[in-house]
Amino acid sequence: MSAVMITRKVRKWEKLPGKNTFCCDGRVMMARQKGVFYLTLFLIAGTCALFFAFECPYLAVHLCPAIPVFAALLFVFVMAMLLRTSFSDPGVLPRALPEEATFIEMEIEAANGNVPAGQRPPPRIRNVQINNQIVKLKYCYTCKIFRPPRASHCSICDNCVDRFDHHCPWVGNCVGKRNYRYFYLFTLSLSLLTIYIFTFDIVHVVMRSMNGGFLNTLKETPGTVLEVLVCFFTLWSVVGLTGFHTYLISLNQTTNEDIKGSWSGKNRGQNPYSHKNIIKNCCEVLCGPTYPSVLDRRGLLQEDSTLVSSSNPVPQTTIYSVGFLGFVDNVGEWREDGKGAQQMASSK
Ligand SMILES: [Zn+2]
Ligand SMILES: [Zn+2]
Repeated sequence: MSAVMITRKVRKWEKLPGKNTFCCDGRVMMARQKGVFYLTLFLIAGTCALFFAFECPYLAVHLCPAIPVFAALLFVFVMAMLLRTSFSDPGVLPRALPEEATFIEMEIEAANGNVPAGQRPPPRIRNVQINNQIVKLKYCYTCKIFRPPRASHCSICDNCVDRFDHHCPWVGNCVGKRNYRYFYLFTLSLSLLTIYIFTFDIVHVVMRSMNGGFLNTLKETPGTVLEVLVCFFTLWSVVGLTGFHTYLISLNQTTNEDIKGSWSGKNRGQNPYSHKNIIKNCCEVLCGPTYPSVLDRRGLLQEDSTLVSSSNPVPQTTIYSVGFLGFVDNVGEWREDGKGAQQMASSK
């Protein structure tokens, strides 16, 4: 019987914990549940297709040729912002490596001392001071880390996300530190697109009705009724959502903090992240620096597998040579000789 050690290189995204899905060899990252995201794509693309098919030819000839051009530009911008929000890392924080987790547990136990049997251990909290305000860092029992300020664990994606805003099924991803501005630009541009299509639907019906009658117009352009209905119901929700996020941005607050009432109420402190100036808050959220992903999804990881005998090709052990959640891009540390799997055989 012979033991064969196979060394294989895999991308780090293949071994990431959490409930995300990856495409294009780790370049695209989304939540696992994507049904509502496909509905969003269908509604936006479908409504725009009906607008271009039924209203645009008439409006371009009888009103202004720029109407379909501006609608097309707005549509492209909406889709770009949607895909940028949906396909990117929202700011997922790496979980602690086993040895890091053991060290943190030891630190916590040393700080808490011996808890008598039957008594609940004290909550795992650390305090930090931000702008003269005490902020509590909570311990995540899943990721085995003390979460940074403003981070929260998304139960759907099963990851801690930095500056967690909320999990949005409509975009099929968490909204956090790295994709919040694109999410806001998506809701803002979608509001404009919805108002634009709704307005020109009405203008189109009025212009055609004056020439050929209201009922004849509806018969000739059956898509208009459907568009008006979709736009009418979308308007309330999307414009309302954009208004709510404009309010949050002006206060430099997240949806999560707003729902939890982190900075409101009698016993709560003031929001330490706010600059107390609407313009400065908007600039920080919308024009501040972009943050690199700390997951290093496309980094290479060396996987060692031991095969026992050629007649039993099932791997007996799998060893990952390093922790897969580096904070830095360390692709350069790995051999990239292109030789693929190396076999080291030893016989018993
Ligand atoms: Zn977590
Ligand atoms: Zn999520």
